[in-house]
Amino acid sequence: MNDALSIAGAPEADRSPRDAEGLQAKKVNPLRSGQKARIVVVGGGFAGVAAVRALRGSDAEILLIDRRNHHIFQPLLYQVATAVLSPAEISAPIRQLEVKQQNLSVLLAEVAGVNVDDRMLEAVLPEGGIRKIAFDYLVVATGMLPSYFGHDEFARYAPALKTLSDAENIRAKILGAFERATTVVDEGERARLMTFVLIGAGPTGVELAASLAHLVKITLVGNFRHIDPSRSAIILLDASKRILPTFAEELSQRVAKRLTKLGVTVLTGVKVEAVDEQGVVAGGKRIPTATALWTAGVAASPLPKMLGGETDRAGRMIVDPFLAVADLPGVFVVGDAASVIQGEHPVPGVAQAAIQQGRYVGQLIAKELRGQETTRPFRYVDKGNMAVVGKNYAVLERGRLRTSGFLTWLVWAFVHILALPQLQNRLRVQRQWLWSYFTGERGSRVIPESPRIK
Ligand SMILES: Cc1cc2nc3c(=O)[nH]c(=O)nc-3n(C[C@H](O)[C@H](O)[C@H](O)COP(=O)(O)OP(=O)(O)OC[C@H]3O[C@@H](n4cnc5c(N)ncnc54)[C@H](O)[C@@H]3O)c2cc1C
Repeated sequence: MNDALSIAGAPEADRSPRDAEGLQAKKVNPLRSGQKARIVVVGGGFAGVAAVRALRGSDAEILLIDRRNHHIFQPLLYQVATAVLSPAEISAPIRQLEVKQQNLSVLLAEVAGVNVDDRMLEAVLPEGGIRKIAFDYLVVATGMLPSYFGHDEFARYAPALKTLSDAENIRAKILGAFERATTVVDEGERARLMTFVLIGAGPTGVELAASLAHLVKITLVGNFRHIDPSRSAIILLDASKRILPTFAEELSQRVAKRLTKLGVTVLTGVKVEAVDEQGVVAGGKRIPTATALWTAGVAASPLPKMLGGETDRAGRMIVDPFLAVADLPGVFVVGDAASVIQGEHPVPGVAQAAIQQGRYVGQLIAKELRGQETTRPFRYVDKGNMAVVGKNYAVLERGRLRTSGFLTWLVWAFVHILALPQLQNRLRVQRQWLWSYFTGERGSRVIPESPRIK
């Protein structure tokens, strides 16, 4: 039985693998007479959605596959983990894209295999069945996964932050620790429950630590009769010599000072050796904690490797200047899953880069379908790097410009509101932020009924 997905256009039986001969990576035209090209985009994150949008007017069948039914605005995930926002405020249904784009179909499925010779994908459907899907063009935009640098055993006690359920679990862990602290009699155990260790001082670790400091020092104060949450310990650890290594050193120093002012203990040059039920062992010392959080490494999702091309150490596909995979005409990898070198520097794994790459490949394919050639390679335009450090303080680096403080924080807030996926997200986040800014309260302090607190 042919269980290949049929979307509008020619029947599946009419589709055969394209003849790759004579096709260059930057110039591929899969059209056979009378057939629409089928473009499959895997991943509905920043890069995949940008690619799909750039193909809006194209005379093609586009299929967007994601294993989740929602797009997540990851830069604000830490605010879900610290009870500022709720999951729906930073996410949008991917299926909604179909409303405005007639040539698009969305499929909820996990792509588990790819046969590049037959130009066929294998997708696992929600009920467990497998569907084979033919493609003419393939855009892989599957992003990254957390990496524990070979210590997967840490994952059990130090969850990472990548999905909405990660953020909800972390929130439950943090809030649950206080609920337990208020009932224990042993002082040492209470101190352990009120100690939070964040492993990894990149932007996510810094933003999470600062937001947690605000939660314990402002929001939760007065909420507990028998404990004082403001006496909690928040420790931010990193093996590197300084925090925020992707920013200029002077900004790292300013942020470290700011964190210290917020009550966060910053420990750099400290390697984590073990994470277990009782705490974290770092630099030869044990730190008792019930809440260790992993904000360190990432590695590419497995799909790029399945294409068979060359990948870098983190599993990202090394693509050519047109973001195409060598020797696989019409196959592109974009966003975090791609390793792109510009000049001598790698293009960073940030939302802006993913959007620009997705849009570039979408436009390249659209031009190709119109019979035009793209000769301009992908060029990343760095619009600046930002990190927020609690209320009223953010840092920005753009070229030689380095700013920090309240005005930068306002810019950060404005940029993030504008970048949210839908108008309703923008309105809801604005409302929550204003409420939280003026009252110090946080509106999403939910522990699910069966708390996953360890
Ligand atoms: C906590 C956190 C905070 C961040 N903060 C910032 C920030 O402040 N600023 C910034 O610029 N960047 C930030 N980033 C990085 C930014 O989010 C990424 O660079 C960006 O999301 C990359 O986009 P992408 O489309 O490549 O991947 P993603 O957005 O990760 O999307 C990948 C998609 O692919 C889907 N997928 C994966 N594998 C499969 C499969 N086999 N089958 C089907 N679907 C699949 C996933 O479900 C997902 O929807 C942050 C990231 C995290 C995790």
